[in-house]
Amino acid sequence: MSKSERALALAREVGFDLAGVAPLRAPRDAERLREWLAAGRHAGLEWIARDVERIADPTLAWPTGRSLLIVGLAHSRPAVELEGGGRIARYAAGRDYHNVMGRMLRKLRRALIKEGLATEGGLARAGVDALPLLERSHAAEAGLGFASKAANLLHPSFGPWFFVGELILDVELDPTPTPPAGSCGTCRACIDACPTEAIVAPGVVDARRCISYHTIESTQAPPRELRAGFGAWAFGCDVCSQVCPWASKAPDLAERWGVHRAVEQGSLAEWLRLRDEEQVSERFEGSPLQRPRRAGLARNAALALGAIAKHRADRELLDALAFDDDASVRDAAAWSLARTRGADPLVRGALEAAQARETDAAAREQMRLNLDGAP
Ligand code: SF4
Ligand code: SF4
Repeated sequence: MSKSERALALAREVGFDLAGVAPLRAPRDAERLREWLAAGRHAGLEWIARDVERIADPTLAWPTGRSLLIVGLAHSRPAVELEGGGRIARYAAGRDYHNVMGRMLRKLRRALIKEGLATEGGLARAGVDALPLLERSHAAEAGLGFASKAANLLHPSFGPWFFVGELILDVELDPTPTPPAGSCGTCRACIDACPTEAIVAPGVVDARRCISYHTIESTQAPPRELRAGFGAWAFGCDVCSQVCPWASKAPDLAERWGVHRAVEQGSLAEWLRLRDEEQVSERFEGSPLQRPRRAGLARNAALALGAIAKHRADRELLDALAFDDDASVRDAAAWSLARTRGADPLVRGALEAAQARETDAAAREQMRLNLDGAP
């Protein structure tokens, strides 16, 4: 067995579903990344722009690195919805993959060192979403899947439902020879189904239009013209994955990941009632749902309630409109109330009062548009 084969066998022993090796060098898609950034499609993901030189050439950050051992862990499961409505990206329903994969990568690292496939001091880094790398591009080169029109990676067994992590090694391992067979072919289901037309060309997602970006990463209220397209998505969006024909072949791994109590027992109204980061940490500990922080969760909940139009959530929306410290939450609450209950004289009165006292210029303008009946 070659060193490379042994490293891949160890990755499987640790529990990863997929593993492959690629040389540590400039990713094939470095030029596409530069074009994406130049077009502003990274939205507020400024760290990518700041780190572009290191991402385009990882040997700058890790001059002694030679190989990337890339691993995949599947997370396919049925769709997930909060009690009373509100959709959550499937990957986020259970345990936080950063913790799970981080532990597995550390175990793999120890096993590699024990077998002399890496050295304690020389093993550069292990990461899940944490290193300045164009992960998907390296993973495609390592044979974990093929690049799709939805800008993710597809595997014949797991479709788009798998996480990617990596170890940077200072030993030369033979690259994995061939990627799995498959392609999007003439399919364009994801492009046609995306609710906000965020897939602007095959393989190119404009984060400025993407629901996942706005509900997980952004600290601002999303642009008005996109809001209706969010529907009931309160954290992430699975539309481009769930319509993919490759996705239907994946196994149900709900048991592997479990259901976090904040998903099992939570509701959008509860998200709107969260008062501070301490409450968020307590409620969402060990869940990826913490990522947007208190204001992001409340904003997402307010917008999703506008799509669900449950009148019993009016109380929470009105409270958010009147008392929330965050302008983007007040803006989202006003938008939802205007959309669902704007014809009610009491609600209209509350919206007018909120607009009159609003101190944030952008939120005030949105509230004016609401009162003028703008979509
Ligand atoms: S995650 Fe949703 S919004 Fe983003 S590209 Fe996919 S379908 Fe479109
Ligand atoms: S939906 Fe079709 S075009 Fe989109 S990623 Fe899947 S196979 Fe490719």
